[in-house]
Amino acid sequence: MQGDVRIVDLRSDTISKPTQQMREAMYNAVVGDDVYGEDPTVVELERRSAEVLGKEDAAFVVSGTMANLLAIMVHCNQRGSEMISGDNGHTFRFEQGGSAQIAGVQTALVKNNEDGTFNLDELRQRIRKNPDFHEPVTSLIVVENTHNLCGGKVLPLDWLEKVGNIAQENNIAVHMDGARIMNAAVYLQVPPKRVAKDVDSVCFCLSKGLGAPIGAMLCGSKSFISKAKRFRKALGGGWRQAGILAAAGLVALDTMIDRLYRDHEHTYRIAKAISDLNSPVFKIDLKSVQTNILILKLNSSKFVAKDFVKRITDVQEDDPIKVSVRASSRDKQHVRFVTYWEITDDDADLAIAKILFVIKDFENKYSE
Ligand SMILES: *Cc1c(COP(=O)(O)O)cnc(C)c1O
Repeated sequence: MQGDVRIVDLRSDTISKPTQQMREAMYNAVVGDDVYGEDPTVVELERRSAEVLGKEDAAFVVSGTMANLLAIMVHCNQRGSEMISGDNGHTFRFEQGGSAQIAGVQTALVKNNEDGTFNLDELRQRIRKNPDFHEPVTSLIVVENTHNLCGGKVLPLDWLEKVGNIAQENNIAVHMDGARIMNAAVYLQVPPKRVAKDVDSVCFCLSKGLGAPIGAMLCGSKSFISKAKRFRKALGGGWRQAGILAAAGLVALDTMIDRLYRDHEHTYRIAKAISDLNSPVFKIDLKSVQTNILILKLNSSKFVAKDFVKRITDVQEDDPIKVSVRASSRDKQHVRFVTYWEITDDDADLAIAKILFVIKDFENKYSE
């Protein structure tokens, strides 16, 4: 590739880098030893996060994966516990089975619908009522919002309320893997705490669309968070002058939420351009594009998603468009694009030009 190639990296919003304002806040952060509870910047980030999510307390942790694992460890603290998850849930698919490996918790699956929800009758059937000696005890339901594998889909608020009611009737907890809950709130045009109203605990990532370098917040009741902090220490997650990182988190909460709608607009613009081609091979369900994640479906027996991703990334000698678009493919048929704050209007247009060019190229090359 030549030196003047423009790279538009749409692999993930985790690619986003800290803003100048975050770097300055990190430089100037007042810090202390957080294991002693003496880092004022961490204390402030936890206070603010709890407030934003409408919970009593919060814990700053290294990652969304750790936040989910801690939530599972606290809610399922009885041995022989079972949690219920959607079959496309991040905790089930992409967290190395930490719930089983570390927490000792079995997962019962319900089938995810395309919108990230699951069937509530199926949920009821999975809940073990008065389990006898043979059965594990249902302790937790995990929901994901926005739903990553379902293409950044936002869970409907009335569905969440029903899940909350079912959980209450059965005296079990609900945890929301809200890695991208801020995108959900912006899409719904409601405060984030409204989205988390019906769950006992919720986590969100500072390091994705919010642009902070590292970290996630776990929010819940005071007693839940104090138990989670105890387990966090056992997992090696007790940290010292973490205010350096928390400072960036505070800037993320202050400056990066209200602007997320732009990422949604960029994603939709790319989706619309592809959809307008009406290609029989490259398919997008436009009405399902809600937030910053776009899933492109490939309907071909002649090439796989990896081939397409490679071609949009490569810039060949005689290509008219000198743009390299990076994307990810989780299987043979799906390509994922994700936008974040550094992706500008210009980047979106360049990405569109390249993607449309390669689609036409593939349609010619692989036509019957
Ligand atoms: C990214 C992600 C996580 C994990 O967050 P990390 O900070 O990468 O560990 C959990 N759940 C969902 C839905 C995610 O997208």
